[in-house]
Amino acid sequence: MPHEAISVFDMFKIGVGPSSSHTLGPWRASQRFTRTLQKKNLLLPTRSVKVLLYGSLAKTGKGHGTDIAVLMGLCGEDPVTIDVNSITSKVQQIESEKKLMLNGKKQVDVEVQFLMRESLPFHPNGLSFIATCENGVEEIETFYSIGGGFVVKENEDASGAQEVDLPFPIDTADDLMHWCMKTGLSINEVVMENENTWRSESETREGVLKIWQTMKECMYRGCHSKGELPGGLHVRRRAFDLNKKLIQHNNYNDYESWTNTITHGGNSFQYILDWVSCFALAVNEENASFGRVVTAPTNGAAGVIPAVLQYFIAFCNGNDEDKIIRFLLTASEIGSIFKKESTISAAMGGCQAEIGVSSSMAAAALTESLGGTQRQALMAAEISMEHHLGMTCDPIGGLVQIPCIERNTMGAIKAITASQLALQSTPDFARVSLDKVIKTMWDTAKDMNTKYKETAEGGLALNIPLGLKEC
Ligand code: SF4
Repeated sequence: MPHEAISVFDMFKIGVGPSSSHTLGPWRASQRFTRTLQKKNLLLPTRSVKVLLYGSLAKTGKGHGTDIAVLMGLCGEDPVTIDVNSITSKVQQIESEKKLMLNGKKQVDVEVQFLMRESLPFHPNGLSFIATCENGVEEIETFYSIGGGFVVKENEDASGAQEVDLPFPIDTADDLMHWCMKTGLSINEVVMENENTWRSESETREGVLKIWQTMKECMYRGCHSKGELPGGLHVRRRAFDLNKKLIQHNNYNDYESWTNTITHGGNSFQYILDWVSCFALAVNEENASFGRVVTAPTNGAAGVIPAVLQYFIAFCNGNDEDKIIRFLLTASEIGSIFKKESTISAAMGGCQAEIGVSSSMAAAALTESLGGTQRQALMAAEISMEHHLGMTCDPIGGLVQIPCIERNTMGAIKAITASQLALQSTPDFARVSLDKVIKTMWDTAKDMNTKYKETAEGGLALNIPLGLKEC
């Protein structure tokens, strides 16, 4: 049985908002289906394509843009390279004509069905593609979007295990600690050694910096975009006003000068707290607007890690490429342990699997970046998740806006608090290990009522229907 090997670029994927499981995953699935048609020479003979969305993809797919994602994927568009400003007009044209250019080559009829009452047994995020050819022959494939943009095809190994032999195979936090103790390497150094299996160190560094570039562009854009978010909930963007208020009358013209201004603008608790919230709000407002984001480990939770990393850069002397790379490597390892031992899918585990995991990833990365030991870093990850256990997923109207956007601010602040707690503690006295809290999270996920797992059938989603404003 191959060891499940997850790279930093599996955990951090550049894509389009608002959801990794409901947008990016289905987009990837539809690209895979299109590739199958191409491989079997069925692109040109295809007359129509029908997409069936099941379970959580049906229930919250409208708000999460699942239909938009599959249509874009069928057109041959890629979430990494598409001009996000072109998506709305493309989708409007497809919806009015009920036709699209399959992989940019053949015009076909298209239909997306939301099967609200049907769910596939393997995973709540199932979707099937049915292509019908001119001669009546059908090509059918079913996929599951298992969280964080990961996709598996029916009957494929759900772990997505890759056939590579890593120098330091890691499934659990104990495994990670074992390698750190045995080699004397820090967490990020262990991760880099493993990454060297896939590519050269310079390629990894370049890729990780590209991830950060995308994160910071997203954050900067979010701080400078105003208006209302799409979807009908009439949520007003807040990062714009908060940024304006905090930056006062200081001049800046790009990310670097903006960060410099932030660093020198104050150091009170309230000032720093407001900025961390602003960073997280900005990313997730962009995410809710179908903007370009990085899954970290999901889109709904995409703001936590950039917010904590930007906090480290602006307020903890972290503006250095090496430090940024180390931060993201450590964060990715914690996320991959959660994926292997539990889940990063809200449809499987509620919001603890998204915001909880991202906060835990950020907490460990910040702790190591601030000079904490490997054990303190894992302790921080544990503390952060411990205080997200049981958190439900109940997005109003199925949109990744309320409670999602504010929840990223909470995840970021909890990560910083967890990091400080760990840095001020002796891990020898900790009673709960990271592995035990991950097991508890998974047990809680299994016990959680389905209505709290990204169905918009419980919690806030039930009490605040779409279109109504809470006073
Ligand atoms: S409530 Fe949490 S898990 Fe659910 S969509 Fe929002 S951020 Fe994601």
